[in-house]
Amino acid sequence: MPDQPTLDPPPWSEAMFRALTEQSGDIISLLDDSGRLLYNSPAAEKISGFSTAELSGVDTFTFFHPDDRERVQAEFARVLATPGAMVTVEYRYRRKEGGWTWMEAVASNQLDNPDVRGVVTNSRDISERKQQQAQQHLIEEQQLHRQRLESLGTLAGGIAHDFNNLLSAIGMHVALAAATTGDAAVRAELEGAEVAVRRAAELTRQLLGFARRQPARPLTLDLRQALQHLGPLLERLLGGQIAVSLSVPEGPVWVGVDPAQLEQVLVNLATNARDAMPGGGHLQLRVALEPGGTANDLRPSVLLSVLDDGVGVAPDVLPRVFEPFFTTKELGRGTGLGLAVSHGIITQSGGSIWLESEPGTGTAVHVRLPLADPPTPPATAAVAAKSGAARPGERVLLADDDDLVRTVTARMLSRLGWAVDEARDGFEALERLVNAPTAYSAAVFDLRMPRLGGEEAAQQALAIDPNLPVLFISGYADGARTRTDIIQKPFDGPALGHHLRNAIDRARDPRLGPAIAPCAR
Ligand code: ADP
Ligand code: MG
Repeated sequence: MPDQPTLDPPPWSEAMFRALTEQSGDIISLLDDSGRLLYNSPAAEKISGFSTAELSGVDTFTFFHPDDRERVQAEFARVLATPGAMVTVEYRYRRKEGGWTWMEAVASNQLDNPDVRGVVTNSRDISERKQQQAQQHLIEEQQLHRQRLESLGTLAGGIAHDFNNLLSAIGMHVALAAATTGDAAVRAELEGAEVAVRRAAELTRQLLGFARRQPARPLTLDLRQALQHLGPLLERLLGGQIAVSLSVPEGPVWVGVDPAQLEQVLVNLATNARDAMPGGGHLQLRVALEPGGTANDLRPSVLLSVLDDGVGVAPDVLPRVFEPFFTTKELGRGTGLGLAVSHGIITQSGGSIWLESEPGTGTAVHVRLPLADPPTPPATAAVAAKSGAARPGERVLLADDDDLVRTVTARMLSRLGWAVDEARDGFEALERLVNAPTAYSAAVFDLRMPRLGGEEAAQQALAIDPNLPVLFISGYADGARTRTDIIQKPFDGPALGHHLRNAIDRARDPRLGPAIAPCAR
């Protein structure tokens, strides 16, 4: 240690020590061995509001928050047991006007010191530090929450993808069996299985939607008309006990959303409203236009509100309703995915969704979507082929690495009259095409295949036959949201046949216009 320069000692006096103590921002106190306050510096009054006279002679523990008292008492005992040692403790300190101040105190047992004969404490207001800590904690919690949602999404998406492949196969096998059997009783059982497959497909669709793996196919549509079309579906869903009313502005209201997703959101919201009104009630759908403002650079938007007069949402439940798998409903009745999925869909469409509720009075769910430009009329009217049947001699090249899906898809197409050649990946498909360049009317490629994926295979196939219509099938076609040549798994045979028919007719006759969006659902 280098030598410290010696300073001239100030003229020490009792007045000076008193001044130092009295000017301190910290509370300097002296206590006896039972915790009674013998002295408090004036900072005590500034922090607590109690005058030094009010504090004098009082048991210090009566000023601590009841939840902290026992802990501070234990620390005080430690101070008494170890003379001279410094002990630090945090606690809430009573304010005269009510409420508490977070304090940190350092105590030292000077009972044996003949000049002091007491416990000396130095206490400091740490409420700001505590507040920062609490804020930091909140931020970390939110981060954790986001990460949890993300990993749940990844997990759900992964499961849903594999599950989808299996469902495709099950669905097609069941449909084939139902079509081939002559036994009406067996057919009835198989139809039951088909219903279950459709429900399972709906669940995977919800899961994929939550994981944002469900490709959106946004269209510019009139929200007013869409709601009017959905009316009967919603009424059926709600049952006879609930009256539905719709209030919309005059004229079309253009929004850019995937119609299937919009339907999903409305079904989810209506289902929740139904569950909230077990004894019947009133469901209102309201559409209002919100003009944009230049002040905050607000874009014109549409506010869709779904109002019910049901049981409402308890205040402690409200912050959690958009969490995936959060439900207050009994097992088997709620999945906890409805609002999570709706939230995913609406934010994906550039909008926002929130919920307001008054327990006992009802709930309002608001959806705000940006207003879209009116659509331009299509150049040519697309004539959709109604049936997915093959014309004589038409042959399809089908590539999918999933044996289960490929074989049953091939059988489905054969039933519709198509001749089918199967390939297990893009390479095998190209080999076949090279060997017979004019044999195929169309190709159907799975997007994800080992060795050579669907899109690369299609590029090379088009180099061989530039007029070959190629359709893709996919479990999750993220990144290809606007394409209409992708068919989502699980699909059924007639839907695939329908697409093939369309693609081939379009390739032969360009006047039929652009591909129409798949109708498989
Ligand atoms: P689920 O309906 O499967 O429970 P949701 O995500 O759709 O899952 O909703 C989550 C929870 O939010 C519900 O369990 C319910 O407690 C609450 N909730 C949602 N909508 C309403 C509503 N309209 N009225 C009352 N409670 C609602
Ligand atoms: Mg729900």
